[in-house]
Amino acid sequence: MAYFNPINWLLGLFSLDIGIDLGTANTLVYVQGKGIVINEPSWVTIDKRSRRPLAIGMAAKEMVGRTPKNVIAVRPLRDGVISEFDITQIMLEYFIGRVHEQSVVPLPKPRVVIGIPAGVTEVEKRAVYDAAMAAGARQALLLEEPIAAALGAGLPISDVRGSMVVDIGGGTTEVAVMSMSGVVASRSLRVAGDEMDQDIIQYLRNKYNLLIGHGIAERIKMTIGSAYPLEKEKTMEVRGRNLVTGLPETVEISSVEIREALAHSVQVIVDTVRDALDEIPPEIIDDLMDLGVCLAGGGALLQGLDHRLTDDLRLRTWVAEDPLTCVARGAGMIYDDFENLSRYLVGLERRSA
Ligand code: ADP
Ligand code: MG
Repeated sequence: MAYFNPINWLLGLFSLDIGIDLGTANTLVYVQGKGIVINEPSWVTIDKRSRRPLAIGMAAKEMVGRTPKNVIAVRPLRDGVISEFDITQIMLEYFIGRVHEQSVVPLPKPRVVIGIPAGVTEVEKRAVYDAAMAAGARQALLLEEPIAAALGAGLPISDVRGSMVVDIGGGTTEVAVMSMSGVVASRSLRVAGDEMDQDIIQYLRNKYNLLIGHGIAERIKMTIGSAYPLEKEKTMEVRGRNLVTGLPETVEISSVEIREALAHSVQVIVDTVRDALDEIPPEIIDDLMDLGVCLAGGGALLQGLDHRLTDDLRLRTWVAEDPLTCVARGAGMIYDDFENLSRYLVGLERRSA
């Protein structure tokens, strides 16, 4: 039995326990007892000469595509892993600092659980750990994202029955089948939300000679994008630059066209999910026929994607409640029931001296 340590007990009373989803597209912070307190794009703008950050999060994303020559906009994570260490640290420090600012009394450093993509290397895990510690955490623990997403979505992953989660983010789509607290089969695919934005840019360029930016492409996807015919198809006016005349132009586009633009990426996602299903034993297929397939991440919000997967896989597919926050909420839940849930945490190898 653990002995009682009054200092730790006191620290525990006042310190924050937080879950962090360090996503390619969005970073979210969940504070125990408060819920999601930070939900901002994973963007940082930097002054090229001084290398100092100018804006972080939403303010930085608004600058994307509009920056003057001396400013660069960076997404410090790529394919779910840290590609720019210093900038990730700055971003984490800022978000963790903001959580602390919201408190009236000065608090001790927080304990954090952070989601990491399944199957990352030791070096990549270490980078996330180091960034969190450098950003002011008292303790940093790591949790695989599919497990975090499944916990956040309320899936019974400790059950003997199998469950399946498909997390579609900005950079990657992660598919995982779990049972008895472990991952039975998984797939990771570098086709997700960003690729869909790219598809829309390419489509409008080919069909209308219209050049649009990433932000507008994303807005089109969220407004009229779909993966299954809509009950009532929609249209939208899109402004961009005509590549032939060089002049501004407005074009009316329809949801049918955008579905066509997204068709290939959607197909790749469907194929990957099917591929993962191919690998699992029939008992688990049987379980999934009851429980269905759970969609999480922002990409889960693409209209009709659940319908499309239900049709193609012949398994009921459903969108988790608040799919964008599943990973952060799942990571934050570890501290709710540390005794039972800490077994999901991923260990780090001891650093060799
Ligand atoms: P990450 O885990 O990589 O940070 P998120 O889970 O936050 O990613 O999801 C971000 C992605 O979800 C972006 O590509 C965004 O465009 C997409 N997304 C968000 N809302 C919608 C929507 N309503 N329809 C389609 N895609 C969406
Ligand atoms: Mg994610």
